[in-house]
Amino acid sequence: VSKRIDALICPRWTIQVQPRLDVQNDLCMAVHEGRIVDLLSRAEADARYTPDAVHERSEHVLLPGLVNAHTHAAMTLMRGFADDIPLKQWLNDRIWPTEMRLATPEFVADGASLAIAEMLRGGVTCFADMYFFPDTVAEVAAAAGMRVAVGMIALEFPTPWAETPAEYISKGLAVHDIYRNHPLVSTTFAPHAPYSVSDETFKRIRQLADELEVPIHMHVHETAQEIRDGEKATGQRPLARLDTLGFVNPALTAVHATQLTDEEIERLAQSGASVVHCPRSNLKLASGACRSAALVDAGVNVALGTDGAASNNRLDLWSEMDTAALLAKFVAGDAEALPAPVVLKMATLNGARALGLDQEIGSLEVGKSADAICVRLAEPAVYPVLDPVSQLVYCAGREHVTDTWVAGEHLVADGALTRLDVDLLMDRARSWGRKVLEA
Ligand SMILES: [Zn+2]
Repeated sequence: VSKRIDALICPRWTIQVQPRLDVQNDLCMAVHEGRIVDLLSRAEADARYTPDAVHERSEHVLLPGLVNAHTHAAMTLMRGFADDIPLKQWLNDRIWPTEMRLATPEFVADGASLAIAEMLRGGVTCFADMYFFPDTVAEVAAAAGMRVAVGMIALEFPTPWAETPAEYISKGLAVHDIYRNHPLVSTTFAPHAPYSVSDETFKRIRQLADELEVPIHMHVHETAQEIRDGEKATGQRPLARLDTLGFVNPALTAVHATQLTDEEIERLAQSGASVVHCPRSNLKLASGACRSAALVDAGVNVALGTDGAASNNRLDLWSEMDTAALLAKFVAGDAEALPAPVVLKMATLNGARALGLDQEIGSLEVGKSADAICVRLAEPAVYPVLDPVSQLVYCAGREHVTDTWVAGEHLVADGALTRLDVDLLMDRARSWGRKVLEA
């Protein structure tokens, strides 16, 4: 007897990422009630299922949705506002003063919505966010059908979101409580960075993270200056200080990690911590280069992130994949460093793992949520297709993404957003843009 299901996706090529990272032909994906219920040949699918919708994608690759493992979504509204200056100046003179002036729930809602539109169209189905008003980011992501891990941000100084470290933490916990069992929204503790958070605050966060079993998401070793300042202030390199405070463990995701000694790479590997590599942000701010290939070789889980749009300026995992692969080869002086399949895994399953979501997303496997994308490889720029994985990493861009599903919901169909009103989002962004420039 044929079983009714919601949808059957029939691509030319399928990359599950796990258990198989290679390309499979004639492998259809059956989706029901938001989950992957079967992966099987077309002939088997026709015999076994009666789908409500059949998506024929005969020139396309089907793969897991991309995971942007680090961003500040609302910063899209400052895209192009502070280009071509170093991190410390960028942050202290441009970004923070503007945020103090403009960051409100309305700013964050409009900025995050614009980011979500950009990411969904580019095949990103999940993002890790660190910003003020995480309650608002969670709300707009859930309304858009986008998956998010919102950071419960903590800083030592006052911002429009909170006055004291205790207030950051209590407001963050309120967000955690609201979304505890939400199908799309999860939370992380997001102490901003070792240089902006005190030992006392770290200790409190560590205790809560253990109790609630929530991952920790933090900027760590972004620049050489940060290491020098940290050593001067505390007598320790920042990662060593975090280790003393009990933070170097499987729950930690260290974002950037451009400055790592061999011993620190070994320590991260042995601890089970994750690293989020943000190659374009690091290059643009001249922060340094993450030794991504050495981390991968040591066994560290390395994911990819875009960072915010004010330091990138694209929330585009395709350009991160390409840049990560090329930069790794340059840094290691080795053309074999970070081969394409490894980079594809970094942008999918490794991202899911860094967010504590690898039981739910990151690969196309029966039982997981149907977070998936289709990429059309049928135009001169991506032709001929000798190796689909190579084509995805080195050649294709977000303009080739035709479909995006999150939990089975078809959020991008034929390249167009199905839920979000793009014209409205752009109107609002334009008006915020004028306010950003009024500084
Ligand atoms: Zn960042």
